[in-house]
Amino acid sequence: MSIRHHPDESLLLAYASGTADEATGLIIATHMAFCPQCRQTVTLMEKIGGRLLETLPAAPLSRQALDATLARLDEPVAVAVPPRAPSKDGTPQPLRAYLGGDLSGVRWRRMGPSLAYKPLFRRGGISAKLLRGAPGTEVGAHTHRGMEYTLVLAGGFCDVTGRYGPGDLQVADSHVRHSPIADPGEDCINLAVTTAPLKFENLIQKIAGPLFGF
Ligand SMILES: [Zn+2]
Repeated sequence: MSIRHHPDESLLLAYASGTADEATGLIIATHMAFCPQCRQTVTLMEKIGGRLLETLPAAPLSRQALDATLARLDEPVAVAVPPRAPSKDGTPQPLRAYLGGDLSGVRWRRMGPSLAYKPLFRRGGISAKLLRGAPGTEVGAHTHRGMEYTLVLAGGFCDVTGRYGPGDLQVADSHVRHSPIADPGEDCINLAVTTAPLKFENLIQKIAGPLFGF
């Protein structure tokens, strides 16, 4: 299995520096579970970041910065902790933390005869969900109001931008118009992160999209 579509350096840097939002962080971490090359790049970025910090002169901390930091200690933080038992089906560890178990144990919600989904979480306008399409399923032509990140977990799909298999990450912005089709053979299971609702072209999907949180 070789990965053809990786996050670009700015995404990896956002992950390495801890500035990526939670959903984007999850999809990058899950890609890295598939991809030794990106794991190596992130390790290198973290090392370089550590060296830079060591060489910077110490700056005095303002009273406001200290107060703000101490105040944040009281804020409740939801921390996703992966289950202790090892995965039985190879589900990447970062994702297991949000599923509370393996992909094979997911309780899917149906969206018609060949599509199902599982919402994971939403933070403001950014949402993370799993999508499962039967072989040959067409999602429907759409463009994007924000960013759409799609990571293949099983099976595969293709669209105008190329072919995507397990571990491949597709990044689509407002310039991309596509209609992904699941490969024949097995169900295509994706982790999808969107920063804004999709813009579907078909009337039924225009109505159904917001109902299902797309
Ligand atoms: Zn990669």
